[in-house]
Amino acid sequence: MHQTLEAIHQRVLDRNPGETEFHQAVHEVLESIGPAVDKHPEYAQARIVERICEPERQIIFRVPWEDDNGDIHINRGFRVEFNSALGPFKGGLRFHPSVMLGTVKFLGFEQVFKNALTGLPIGGGKGGSDFDPRGRSDREVMRFCQSFMTELYRHIGEYTDVPAGDMGVGSRELGFLFGQYKRITNRYESGVLTGKGLVYGGAQVRREATGYGCTYFVERVLRTRGDGFEGKDVVVSGSGNVALYTVEKVHQLGGRVVAVSDSSGVVHDPEGVDLELLKEIKEVRRERLDVYAEKIGHAEYAADRSIWDIPCQVALPSATQNELDADGAAALARNGCLVVGEGANMPTTPEAARVLHEGGVIFAPGKAANAGGVAASALEMQQNASRDSWSFEHSENRLREIMIDLHDRCHATAEEYGRPGDYVAGANIAGYSRVAEAMLALGLV
Ligand code: GLU
Repeated sequence: MHQTLEAIHQRVLDRNPGETEFHQAVHEVLESIGPAVDKHPEYAQARIVERICEPERQIIFRVPWEDDNGDIHINRGFRVEFNSALGPFKGGLRFHPSVMLGTVKFLGFEQVFKNALTGLPIGGGKGGSDFDPRGRSDREVMRFCQSFMTELYRHIGEYTDVPAGDMGVGSRELGFLFGQYKRITNRYESGVLTGKGLVYGGAQVRREATGYGCTYFVERVLRTRGDGFEGKDVVVSGSGNVALYTVEKVHQLGGRVVAVSDSSGVVHDPEGVDLELLKEIKEVRRERLDVYAEKIGHAEYAADRSIWDIPCQVALPSATQNELDADGAAALARNGCLVVGEGANMPTTPEAARVLHEGGVIFAPGKAANAGGVAASALEMQQNASRDSWSFEHSENRLREIMIDLHDRCHATAEEYGRPGDYVAGANIAGYSRVAEAMLALGLV
């Protein structure tokens, strides 16, 4: 690592003890922006990197709520407002029992660069709670969301901070959150949240955008090499919002998704995953994946198998952080995988990324490949601000253009800095440069 950056990195480790995912995210960025730091000594003088690594504001709050039996639960809520140089803080809320401050900081840090890469006017932030919506009734989820928003509302706003969904926060949760915000503030402020339902200010293609965007990005990677999805076997880990719409777009572009997974296990369907059945199981019935294999005779379900052992030419990890380890990466490389594109945030461990690099597998990091979700959120904000709503077709075209531009910017930046084909360096340097330029212009704030 560059000497100046090494010292900054050490200070981040010392000042944020125990936040391993945040350390990992910071390390990945600082490791690759050395050439950009050398090129712009004025940024170093203004201590831009140190400032980027320190959130502008971190909010932690108590979320008390009552379950259907009248028992009281106390969860912890977070909102980390990381950087607003390019626009209002923007990023999702994650409800999952594993959520801690370090998780939210890693996600918020990634979001700063991701949002910069979209080229749209959005800063970076993230939030969430250690609340587990799984197994909770709709009324319990509503009470939790209302309590969460009763604190959060004072910190957010269409010009301040605009949350959206992430793991555990979908249209049901966003509806309850928006309802409570509207009630407390007495304002129909559509632009305060994105990912809203279509009837109350949501935008076409937001739901599909992360998965579609990731697929467009990887398609562009393949096209740059004179190739495409046609005839390719694809493995997509996860079966949440990102994974479902990745499967949909891969199939539309001529690829075949042969495996998906959830926290209970892996489904291998060599004839191509039946998307309608998968949506029914996951979006409507909220069931586990073993049901899939019960319905589709030739599909195999295994509770304890690694999805990365299944041969494919493209792998799209779309479940959660650090799900693809060095063994998984080695299996992918051995089986002839050409591209790994991250649909989730930081699903590839640093060791796995190294194995992929050494094995000649192209690696598209999440902050570039999964930026379609937040890009569509920025389009939702545009529509809300102008009280307009665009057609599905127009919205999808805009998303596609944004992902192609984003890919090309990462690709060109990697070449410019002497790292051709290195999308990690390209994404980190391009994202950093944009944020740094704006921070310098805004003075010491
Ligand atoms: N949670 C998504 C992400 O990781 C989307 C954030 C948003 O739309 O604000 O980028």
